[in-house]
Amino acid sequence: MDNCIFCKIANGQIPSSTVYEDEEFRVILDLNQGMRGHMLILPKEHYANIYEFPEEKAGKAMAIASRLAKAAKKGFEAAHMPLDGLNILQNNGEAAGQTVMHYHLHVLPRHAGDDSFPVWSEKTADAEEMQETLTILKGAL
Ligand code: AMP
Ligand code: ZN
Repeated sequence: MDNCIFCKIANGQIPSSTVYEDEEFRVILDLNQGMRGHMLILPKEHYANIYEFPEEKAGKAMAIASRLAKAAKKGFEAAHMPLDGLNILQNNGEAAGQTVMHYHLHVLPRHAGDDSFPVWSEKTADAEEMQETLTILKGAL
């Protein structure tokens, strides 16, 4: 993808604050450091979103997220900036907040009271609707 900024960053054509790299992924610090240590896990191959991203690669992406989460917890604690929590987030489509159309996972270190979430509002579930939802989802698997 010639015009994709994350392709260029992931493949080293544009310099980045790289935390980790292997043959398939690069992990960088997000330019937006509203949460200190906000990282992005980028596949080096271009996939626009989760619908294109192969299931076989999803495990590796999440394994990297797991490793980085532990590193963030350990590292910030050692630097006397202990974390209170951490979110893994992955946006797909504009309605979900995706702004760069190259699949990526966010690793978001959290501090109590930073009021950056939630991304959904609570609504009591309707039993009939839940049954219909189960039918829709299970039928499509
Ligand atoms: P999303 O909204 O899930 O598509 O996330 C895109 C993220 O990419 C945002 O958090 C941006 O701050 C971040 N971002 C955009 N351009 C760059 C860049 N050149 N280097 C690092 N992070 C970037
Ligand atoms: Zn790309």
